[in-house]
Amino acid sequence: MPPEGEEIVLRGLPISKGIGIGFPVFFTSTEDHFPEIAIPKKEIEFEIDRYRRALDLSRKDVETLQRLSLNDGPPEIVSILGTHLEMMQDPLLTSVIEDRIRDMQRNTESIFHHIIEEYKARFSTIKDLYFQERVRDIVDVSRRILGHLRPLEQVKMGEMAHNSIILTHELVPSETVEANASLVSAFVTAAGGITSHAAIIARAKGIPYVANVDIKNLKNVEVHSLIVDGSQGLVILNPSKGTLKKYQEIQKKHQMSYKMLKNASHLKGETIDGYEVRIFANLENPKEIDQLMKAGASGIGLFRSEYLFLSRKAFPKEEEQFTIYKQMVKSLKGKPLVIRVFDVGGDKKVDLLPTNPDAKYFDEIGHELNPALGCRAIRFLLRYPEILETQLRAILRASFYGEIHILIPMVSDVSEVRIVREKVKLIQKELKQKGIKTAKHIPIGCMIEVPSSAIMSDSLAEEVDFLSIGTNDLVQYILAADRSNTHTSELYYTTHPSILRLIRMVVASANRANKPVILCGECAADPSMIPLLIGLGIREFSVAARHIPLVKHTIRKWRILEACRLAESALEYPSAQELKQFLAEETAR
Ligand code: PEP
Ligand code: MG
Repeated sequence: MPPEGEEIVLRGLPISKGIGIGFPVFFTSTEDHFPEIAIPKKEIEFEIDRYRRALDLSRKDVETLQRLSLNDGPPEIVSILGTHLEMMQDPLLTSVIEDRIRDMQRNTESIFHHIIEEYKARFSTIKDLYFQERVRDIVDVSRRILGHLRPLEQVKMGEMAHNSIILTHELVPSETVEANASLVSAFVTAAGGITSHAAIIARAKGIPYVANVDIKNLKNVEVHSLIVDGSQGLVILNPSKGTLKKYQEIQKKHQMSYKMLKNASHLKGETIDGYEVRIFANLENPKEIDQLMKAGASGIGLFRSEYLFLSRKAFPKEEEQFTIYKQMVKSLKGKPLVIRVFDVGGDKKVDLLPTNPDAKYFDEIGHELNPALGCRAIRFLLRYPEILETQLRAILRASFYGEIHILIPMVSDVSEVRIVREKVKLIQKELKQKGIKTAKHIPIGCMIEVPSSAIMSDSLAEEVDFLSIGTNDLVQYILAADRSNTHTSELYYTTHPSILRLIRMVVASANRANKPVILCGECAADPSMIPLLIGLGIREFSVAARHIPLVKHTIRKWRILEACRLAESALEYPSAQELKQFLAEETAR
């Protein structure tokens, strides 16, 4: 171990640019790993006492909940809580755990976690409903007990102290979206890929982020303060005065140049020779709508509506959705709002308590070996049409108040578009019969983000009103490189020649069908990619509001002919690495 207080520089994977200076906060999420710590024999009984206390506190929680539910809760909840109380008396949660702590001489969290995982593995293969429910109960109870064993877990992402630097195994989107950029200075994680949803949110909020850092070992180092350099992928522990000064200056420069860009964001996104490129905003949190208007957006090109579900941990009801969409479209004052129907699943998942009525959907799907290839987005919505229909009804009702477009995520076959279109038609008719007004025509588009939809873009373009290229997923599926995995980050190339060819193909399909095409993946905010994308024929981008000034600034430095020539040359390259190098050189101006 280095001497106390010495400056240590760690290298990781740069995910979100910028400099963060602050204090370490080890954040433990429910998805985190459980470190195994040896407990000396003489301390074993203290460790067991710690477990008993956590169990006791959990029991009291459930008793209180049960008392409250007796007054105004559904009877099912009262009975589930009764089962939980019984479980807490079960030998599995009393003597078995205590004996194992004694035998293994390990910390309670790791023993407890192992036993619960064993239990889950044993029973989750049994299809019987009774056993499935018991597994859900045990997971619920175990989470409650772990919460008391690890009080840190109670710290909420949205309630951090000023200048907190969050150190955690992995960030999940539902937690990242809660982070307040004026309080959280940076993120450092062990796991996480460049275009994971947590990464997208960190960038959208302007929070520097470095992944692939050994967090577990960091816990053994005394860290008083740290600097995160999200541009270079550096984490500097206990920086010296000199280092601190250097980074404070860099931070100031970044802030100043961002301010300058922002001051010019009212200008049009157009090339030197007057070709307009429209810049829309990607949005996760409806409360941030004012920011994007100030950033000079032409509207919302991608509202990731699933965040309504992720942050509430429940699917919002029709009335609530209607109110949100109506408010959003009204505040856009005539500018369009593209609502992507819930894209849940994959890495956009949440741990729902078994008592949550929406847990049934995810329980039924169960553990997926390949969630990115599983029941995600439109597949999930077509499996549970009641969720899709409720959302469509809310969208159609709100469409009366402004220009709303519907976007379907992860389309892999034209039949999915046809089903949604049919549903929209039917719901519109029903609403009309009830005297509820909607817009006459609501454009329906589909995401081009899996190989089959890119290849079939000509047929899809005939069926939809617009196409939206989602390069974050398209790259992941074309290159078979997980967007959320640190270890595949070197294989995840937006500059892969195959991606360029597909984008060219999709643009050609859209042009032939005379339909607009927008690109809303993260590469739309990358200054080394923007001229190439324009050269490939993209005339509409959708990026996080924060990136709009930089995107406009980049576009305003190019002529359309130069961009086309750049794209032509780029298409000649056979390898992603060479192409990346070429673009870096050609776009450095
Ligand atoms: C994409 O896949 O490029 C996209 C915009 O959607 P998301 O990042 O939400 O998957
Ligand atoms: Mg996607």
